Amino acid sequence: MSGILIIGTGLAGYTLAREWRARDGHTPLTLVTRDDGAYYTKPMLSGALGRGQSPEDLVQRTAEAMAQELDARVLTRATVSALIPGERRVRLQDGRFLDYDALVLALGAEPVQFSYEGDGADAVLTVNDLADYVRFRQAIEAVDRVALIGPGLIGCEFANDLVASGRTVEVIGPDAWPLGRLVPEAAGQAVQRGLEAAGVRFHLGTVVQRIERSGSGYRLSLEDGGCVQAGAVLSAVGVRPRLDLAREAGLAVQRGICVDRRLATSVEGVYALGDCAQVEGRVLPYVAPIRHAAKALARTLAGEVTPVHYPAMPVQVKTTRHPVVVAPPDPQAEGAWEIMPVGDGVKARFLDPEGRLLGFALTGSEAVKARPELTRALPPILEG
Ligand SMILES: Cc1cc2nc3c(=O)[nH]c(=O)nc-3n(C[C@H](O)[C@H](O)[C@H](O)COP(=O)(O)OP(=O)(O)OC[C@H]3O[C@@H](n4cnc5c(N)ncnc54)[C@H](O)[C@@H]3O)c2cc1C
Repeated sequence: MSGILIIGTGLAGYTLAREWRARDGHTPLTLVTRDDGAYYTKPMLSGALGRGQSPEDLVQRTAEAMAQELDARVLTRATVSALIPGERRVRLQDGRFLDYDALVLALGAEPVQFSYEGDGADAVLTVNDLADYVRFRQAIEAVDRVALIGPGLIGCEFANDLVASGRTVEVIGPDAWPLGRLVPEAAGQAVQRGLEAAGVRFHLGTVVQRIERSGSGYRLSLEDGGCVQAGAVLSAVGVRPRLDLAREAGLAVQRGICVDRRLATSVEGVYALGDCAQVEGRVLPYVAPIRHAAKALARTLAGEVTPVHYPAMPVQVKTTRHPVVVAPPDPQAEGAWEIMPVGDGVKARFLDPEGRLLGFALTGSEAVKARPELTRALPPILEG
């Protein structure tokens, strides 16, 4: 028996492994990862400065400790270069093969990287894992001003954390307001005011064109003629599911690796969850969907076929200077935002033509108190 093979030791891979081991204590389990396999909670990366934590503080368990806990093999620094589903095996970059009875893709997503003109373009940092975060912390160590490209969820969280560490932050992006893809204008403006009061500077409605080295830092030229000087440049413009392995092996892919409610891909014996997966058309790169998917898939792998159920899953944006909780409506949903000012923030509800709640955005410490009540009123994302 070859057992279960999970590619990826992020939250998706390890959460599934834990759920599955709780149900099956004897079938062989192997996890393979191209990184060091340390267990950490990725959302902690964008709040560690404010909490006074070093990258090392964020490691909760080493790969060896995880292998012991899970009674599993955890192969680290091992990159999977091909899936061979017809033979139920995968090939590693070093030429080895790993056989499986069931394969789970927990490959995560890649940060989107824009290209810029100028001799400083190659110095732009992204943070999507612990190794990136180590580089980021080294780069900002002696820096008091950081340019941050991308006023979305992760960008706003890093801006919040960088000002908490006493640094000046210049946030740049084409959006008219921060969190532009998640919240209506009034809510975005409230977030902007809250972060500006904490010291964040926004350059919105424009994009970076050139990044040049200048003294010990960088000079960013903006499309609107503006210019930003900074000691380090961080880009947070979104993530893209890792699809290459699946695509090359002939699995159906669209924006993510296509899976049905059982988390099964188009090829028998191969499953996917986490940031790489597109579950019935939805790519939801957040922690809560991983928890639900891992529970369901663990049951399915243990022989009790269980479709995943997604309840309403609001996301907390960790902008401590101006707290935010969002449950964005489905992009295809018909309806309109209803806005109510609350304290220094906004309570925004997205209602369909019959007045049913389909999404919400709460900003500011008063408004976020409505989270439990509004969450209860939301329909599930995928019905059970
Ligand atoms: C800074 C930051 C803050 C966030 N904050 C929040 C938050 O507050 N709330 C929230 O819900 N979500 C948040 N998220 C999103 C959340 O962290 C992710 O949805 C989640 O961690 C994704 O886990 P994953 O296991 O799918 O992917 P990953 O953690 O990216 O894991 C992918 C794994 O696949 C492995 N891998 C990939 N390709 C190969 C290969 N070819 N061979 C071998 N191994 C491979 C990698 O080594 C890695 O182990 C945040 C994300 C970031 C970056």
